Amino acid sequence: MRSAKKEAKCFLYFSTMLKADLHIHAKGDPIDIIRYTPKKLIDRAASLNFDVISITNHKKVTYNRELSEYAKKKGILLIPGAEAMIKHRHVLVYNITNKDLSTIKTINDLKMFRKDNYLIIAPHPFFIKKYCLSNLLTENIELFDAIEFSSNYTNHININKKAVMVSRKYNIPMVGTSDAHSFKEFGTDYTLIDAEKNIQSVFKAIRSNKVKVVTKPKTLRKLTMDLSKTIILSTIKKTYRKILK
Ligand SMILES: [Zn+2]
Ligand SMILES: [Zn+2]
Repeated sequence: MRSAKKEAKCFLYFSTMLKADLHIHAKGDPIDIIRYTPKKLIDRAASLNFDVISITNHKKVTYNRELSEYAKKKGILLIPGAEAMIKHRHVLVYNITNKDLSTIKTINDLKMFRKDNYLIIAPHPFFIKKYCLSNLLTENIELFDAIEFSSNYTNHININKKAVMVSRKYNIPMVGTSDAHSFKEFGTDYTLIDAEKNIQSVFKAIRSNKVKVVTKPKTLRKLTMDLSKTIILSTIKKTYRKILK
């Protein structure tokens, strides 16, 4: 058992780390229907004492100076990012612009962003095959800075297991994220990062594995509800888009 002194030291250490969630969706996502605006998300993140967040909409960088300043006023570092799609398979890329994003069409295109000022994370790599990197992750492991420990799991159903194995085998850090599509999904799963509150320091700390995943398994009911809500809303959006064409 840890002594009270050690516990206090431990708490102090973690309390100085940055609370970060680098995978959150917000209104404006081209694929999924999200109810809250980026500013409302920033407000929510501030109320939950987050230090760092990234809005990672599918195929779109939702970031501008106004949003960044708004976040800064609330004590939050907003990192530009997006959930790129390579033939439907998801990849998180950070510190990019929409122009950069439009150049990512194949897994090889990620090589252009294999530099210190960018960060590449493999989200939910072994979930539903169509949307996940799966073998593309292990075949191109040198392209990735970190692997996501997804919040979508229960005590009995944990599709993160293979991601954990790959992380250990290749010595690649894991980051905890919410992949939130609603506020109910936001706040329980995140990463503590031992870094200064600036982009380069955060990227460096992640690459150096100075991170701690904070996560809580969902109940089967909550997992089913969260996933089915996202699937239903995205189906509605796709159907509307087809009708409007
Ligand atoms: Zn995804
Ligand atoms: Zn996502």
